[in-house]
Amino acid sequence: MHRIATLLAQAGNRRDPATGAISTPIYQTATFAHPALGESTGYDYTRSSNPTRKALEDAMTQIEGAAASFAFGSGLAALSTVLCLFSSGDNLIVAEGAYGGTTRLLDQVFARLGLSASYVSITDTAAYRAALQPNTRAILIESVSNPCLLVPDLPALAALAHEAGALLIVDNTFLTPYWLRPLAGADGVAADIVLHSASKYLAGHNDTIAGLVSVRTPALAERLGYLQNAVGAVLAPQDAWLVLRGLKTLALRLEAQQRNALLLAQWLQAHPQVRRVYYPGLPGDAGHARLKSFSNGFGAVLSFELTSTAAVAALIEGVQLISYAESLGGVESLITVPAVQTHANLPAAERARLGVTDTLVRLSVGIEDSADLIADLAAALQH
Ligand SMILES: *Cc1c(COP(=O)(O)O)cnc(C)c1O
Repeated sequence: MHRIATLLAQAGNRRDPATGAISTPIYQTATFAHPALGESTGYDYTRSSNPTRKALEDAMTQIEGAAASFAFGSGLAALSTVLCLFSSGDNLIVAEGAYGGTTRLLDQVFARLGLSASYVSITDTAAYRAALQPNTRAILIESVSNPCLLVPDLPALAALAHEAGALLIVDNTFLTPYWLRPLAGADGVAADIVLHSASKYLAGHNDTIAGLVSVRTPALAERLGYLQNAVGAVLAPQDAWLVLRGLKTLALRLEAQQRNALLLAQWLQAHPQVRRVYYPGLPGDAGHARLKSFSNGFGAVLSFELTSTAAVAALIEGVQLISYAESLGGVESLITVPAVQTHANLPAAERARLGVTDTLVRLSVGIEDSADLIADLAAALQH
């Protein structure tokens, strides 16, 4: 088995024996002609399977060390399909402060269908044990929280889930398989299902919405494959091709983005208008040692607390290079104010408890020259 950078660069390579095309062709077709009565080429209808989507799914299966992978139209389409594994009366334990779309889907949609979610503090391992109920079927957790970059004890949670006969589902969007492969069982993280918003690092260019799910066992592969076709929230061939293309440079992008993130975090720490920086790549960060124990990297999202809301306004209005926009993981740096954007739907008290203050700013660091990013922040903070 090749190493991860090789698997990434070779994603989808030479899949077309008819022409030898290096890049996987985009099979922009809804249906496939059958060779004879009762026969199939293996492809019947694109909702069920499509060669371009299959190339992406097979690449992810190799990259994640999975039994199988499935591509969806968005990260939330992927999660919705995963949640269809469960039934009315089932319970999930979910880390507090999970992605806003995740809690909205659980609390406003699947709750109506009888699936309950119990929320616990992401870093409090004892709280997960206390929250276990006889009907708990899964623990759903992000590998690093948003926006304060808190780090859960994933090995302990994997052990706890399995002891309780429940699944561990890891939303690994922030770290990607380049830094952490939760299915592979390395460093004690033996997850059952890993999901990604591929709209972020995997596609990587702020140009595509996509979701990916990989599973550890053939039994889960069969159930999820059935649901992918039954629910039908699949990724289109053009977008599957864009994600494949993104995977090829994931290793390079993440190395560059993480290098920039550390430089920016250190610079921000020393700035008089910055009260606190959250970035697990900083040796002094609360999650640094834990994340280092099971992940090969720290990612490239960081948050920081400014001294006043006036400073936040000046920063957002002052940045010229960095775009004021939601999302993360692309080659272009983006800045957001979580209390106003990504976490605006939470009640103020809940935001306060999660550390999402009005003076917190989140930065997704891209691959630009770090000196230009620092100059942009410096000029904006001077206003
Ligand atoms: C963006 C995101 C999602 C949702 O993915 P979409 O592709 O936007 O549907 C889920 N989880 C995390 C951690 C995310 O950042």
